[in-house]
Amino acid sequence: MKILLVYLPFCTPVSPPYSLTNLHAFLTHNSTEEIKVLDLNVKFHSLKFSHGKKYFQSSNWNNYEDFANKYHQETKKVYSKNNWKVVHNESPEYFDELLQQIKDEKPDVVAFSVVYSSQAFYAHALLKSLKNITTVIGGPAVSEKLMTLADHHFKNELEFLNFIEKKEHKDLVFDFPLDFSIYNLEEYFTPETVIPLKTSTTCYYQQCTFCAHYANVPYKEYPLENIQNTVVKSKMKHFFLIDDMIPVKRLLALGEMFSKNGAKWGCQLRPTKEFTEEVMKTLYDCGLTFVLWGVESGCQKTLDAIKKGTNVEDVESVLKNSFTAGVKNVCYIMFGFPGETEEDFIETIEFLKSNNKNIDLISTSIFGLQPGTNVYQNSQKFGITSIEESKRTVLEPKISYSVKEGLSNEDAKKLRKKYLSTIDEINSYPKTMNFFREHMFFMKK
Ligand code: SF4
Repeated sequence: MKILLVYLPFCTPVSPPYSLTNLHAFLTHNSTEEIKVLDLNVKFHSLKFSHGKKYFQSSNWNNYEDFANKYHQETKKVYSKNNWKVVHNESPEYFDELLQQIKDEKPDVVAFSVVYSSQAFYAHALLKSLKNITTVIGGPAVSEKLMTLADHHFKNELEFLNFIEKKEHKDLVFDFPLDFSIYNLEEYFTPETVIPLKTSTTCYYQQCTFCAHYANVPYKEYPLENIQNTVVKSKMKHFFLIDDMIPVKRLLALGEMFSKNGAKWGCQLRPTKEFTEEVMKTLYDCGLTFVLWGVESGCQKTLDAIKKGTNVEDVESVLKNSFTAGVKNVCYIMFGFPGETEEDFIETIEFLKSNNKNIDLISTSIFGLQPGTNVYQNSQKFGITSIEESKRTVLEPKISYSVKEGLSNEDAKKLRKKYLSTIDEINSYPKTMNFFREHMFFMKK
């Protein structure tokens, strides 16, 4: 039996997909079937945005801000036009070409990995058109609608393996290096390949009230030896750790491993006080190039409501320690958490302004109510007075809510717009780099 694992448009084509690579390795090590991968996302972007590919793959980035901004606006339009087409039963762009790429592989089973909701539209269109091939769907962004279109939906790789092998497994292999050579790495939109890596099952903190990322999965670190084997096998020199959070002790061990292999790396962290100047200096010396810090807010009241487990003074020290060490700091900021007032919002703006020199880039978002989160389950405790769900054709229902006091979702959006130029002035890196964070490896200030 031939199994084809497919990654779909739309997401930024800056690196090969981690999820599919991991699934490919798991199935290859535990089954005798033929397993292949196909990244239709990068193929779509190569067809539609060849000028973007050429520019981002070159090292001549003199007018990066201008170019990346235009590219981003263009892709936004294309994505939304094609999503509209799928919702209205029309074929999206390059649909026949992409469908043909699947057919050319002559698979018995096609499995779609839906990691982002933006991938649900092509999944929807392709599932409707694939006849005489068994279809399988999985991933965190699978909607009820997609489940009804696919022949099978599996929650994890084990269920998928049991399906293709038609038996329960014993003695499964879970520890293996990943193989990124299954893709054409020349296709991705960066000057040099950036490999995504996950070093643990999930976030070990699991307490932020707005977050559902960890999905009650127990925290487990993957063996360092396997990660090192993946790094060595890839022969690449740039790695982005997609873990939501990594403890300091583990980071230092990972840093030592990257350093031995002469690699540069970036990661996402919660800014707690153990990130001292000494720790940050050691990590920088081990190749740590940038950190995406989950700052969320510069207002202690909001941080406490979020249960971030951080305090504003420590966050300031962490940013300073990191910047002084030479690491580039990206700050994730979330506006509009239920109960946040205009004064709290402005406190965050003031925080950003006063830490200006230690911040390279700010990535803002507006709070969204997600099922499965503490805020959703205990909405009244957070001052949410009502929750409404409106149905959508392809995606899960859209959730809106009202709050007793503080900023509504709309208020937060308006305030962000009002302070946009203040935020932009703090960025020393082009703000469009928020959509191409892997490019931070290659951007010189
Ligand atoms: S927001 Fe980040 S640190 Fe907080 S629980 Fe979620 S993944 Fe963990």
